[in-house]
Amino acid sequence: MTNKMLKFVDLARAMPEKRSVDTRRADFGEIYEEYDPIAAKAQASRCSQCGVPFCQVHCPLHNNIPDWLMLTAEGRLREAYEMSQATNNFPEICGRICPQDRLCEGNCVIEQAGHGTVTIGSVEKYITDTAWEEGWVEPVKPPQERPQSIGIIGAGPAGMAAAEELRRKGYQAHVYDRYDRVGGLMIYGIPNFKLEKEVVEKRSDLLTRGGVQFHLNSDVGGALGFAELRERHDAVLIATGVYKARDIKVPGVGLDNVFAAMDFLTASNRKGLGDAVPAFDDGTLNAAGKAVVVIGGGDTAMDCVRTAVRQGAKSVRCLYRRDRKNMPGSQREVANAEEEGVEFVWLSAPEAFLGDGKVEAVRAQRVHLGMPDATGRQMPQILENSSFTMEADMVIKALGFDPEDLPQLFDTPGLDVTRWGTVKTDFATMMTNLDGVFAAGDIVRGASLVVWAVRDGRDAAEQIHRHLQAKADSAAVAAE
Ligand SMILES: Cc1cc2nc3c(=O)[nH]c(=O)nc-3n(C[C@H](O)[C@H](O)[C@H](O)COP(=O)(O)OP(=O)(O)OC[C@H]3O[C@@H](n4cnc5c(N)ncnc54)[C@H](O)[C@@H]3O)c2cc1C
Ligand code: SF4
Repeated sequence: MTNKMLKFVDLARAMPEKRSVDTRRADFGEIYEEYDPIAAKAQASRCSQCGVPFCQVHCPLHNNIPDWLMLTAEGRLREAYEMSQATNNFPEICGRICPQDRLCEGNCVIEQAGHGTVTIGSVEKYITDTAWEEGWVEPVKPPQERPQSIGIIGAGPAGMAAAEELRRKGYQAHVYDRYDRVGGLMIYGIPNFKLEKEVVEKRSDLLTRGGVQFHLNSDVGGALGFAELRERHDAVLIATGVYKARDIKVPGVGLDNVFAAMDFLTASNRKGLGDAVPAFDDGTLNAAGKAVVVIGGGDTAMDCVRTAVRQGAKSVRCLYRRDRKNMPGSQREVANAEEEGVEFVWLSAPEAFLGDGKVEAVRAQRVHLGMPDATGRQMPQILENSSFTMEADMVIKALGFDPEDLPQLFDTPGLDVTRWGTVKTDFATMMTNLDGVFAAGDIVRGASLVVWAVRDGRDAAEQIHRHLQAKADSAAVAAE
């Protein structure tokens, strides 16, 4: 049993025997492990320093995990921090929200030997949280300023990591975002109980102090043209993420109180940030006292169900057309949601949303998993005469995201995209088919993870640097 689960068991022990979702909500705070120096040392010293560090191989940033665990075990925290931040721009963020069970910790040799993983993410978070407290985290100080500027579209983790790395090399980094805050999905998508907003805000302040220039409320393709941005800068990085919510085509989808996941999560996050959110205050986007049904089985669905629990929903159900083992979301998140009282209705698909003006129930059908399709996943097949109905005062659609139509939005039909609408880049150089235009993060990969966005942002910064240097070199040769 992991320490996180132990913490939950302790909470559960302190709770009354018969618990409804809303009577438990007051007990939920942040749920990752909080370490003190002794616990962090004890955990770090469990690392066996195995010859082949599978944890490092399976970390998208190839963090030097065994070495910083050893330094932590020896109490050399500042050195551990220096080593950890050398490969990761936001270690305290990844430590909190990486699905470690699928990445570093899932490949820990001790875990595979059946003794429970070294809790790498929590140690990583502890090291960097300590570094912040001790004042070791400092803005980048480029050794020399370069005149070239780079326009970065998107202030999510990919854009932020790229901006920091470009500043490190002395470039002028300008980040444009259509939102009013820096952080992308880390600020308005991922809920506060997984990633406190102050943690993201501290990072954006640090970038500003390091010379990154943010241009917020700047919608590229809207008031600010893509062509104009290309004119303004020596290179452009597209790091816009994926935001077009997939919809569901069933009768009743237009009823009131049927919402897209991002509307629900953004309202909750804005409220937490102290913004005026009338649609939350008047109860529209607030799950308190409601029977909530979330449709979908990914991490966004898990965030919706767990947010609804924390808002005091009367009941929370998650309707998913496949079974537990075929869910795309992290198994750890599913286990957490179950511990919090969420009911999973597996192998079920919505047939209609019922109600008079406002949703009152969801009619669903049972599903059987049939033969695998071309991707190898078993195809869900509706079972005849299997309809059933469940109460719902609020329905949240969490069916995933697709990219916006960027060639159209940017009025640049020549920008190559894949058949899924993600931006096509050269595998090695990360450049699109447009000279000097690069792309990184979810807009290239499709909906992915923060740690991959950080990796892409770092790699893109390096590729932009090489591109600008090559251009400068050829200009110098031409001038000779
Ligand atoms: C609800 C939810 C929960 C998640 N939970 C996790 C998790 O626990 N762990 C994890 O690792 N990952 C999680 N993810 C995924 C993770 O958030 C993304 O993979 C990551 O944020 C992608 O980074 P990005 O920089 O590519 O894009 P984003 O974070 O989406 O940032 C893109 C930015 O570009 C801006 N933008 C877009 N278009 C324009 C334009 N035309 N002009 C100007 N600005 C523009 C947007 O406003 C946004 O700020 C979650 C995602 C969601 C939706
Ligand atoms: S960045 Fe993520 S995958 Fe890599 S060590 Fe940290 S928690 Fe693990």
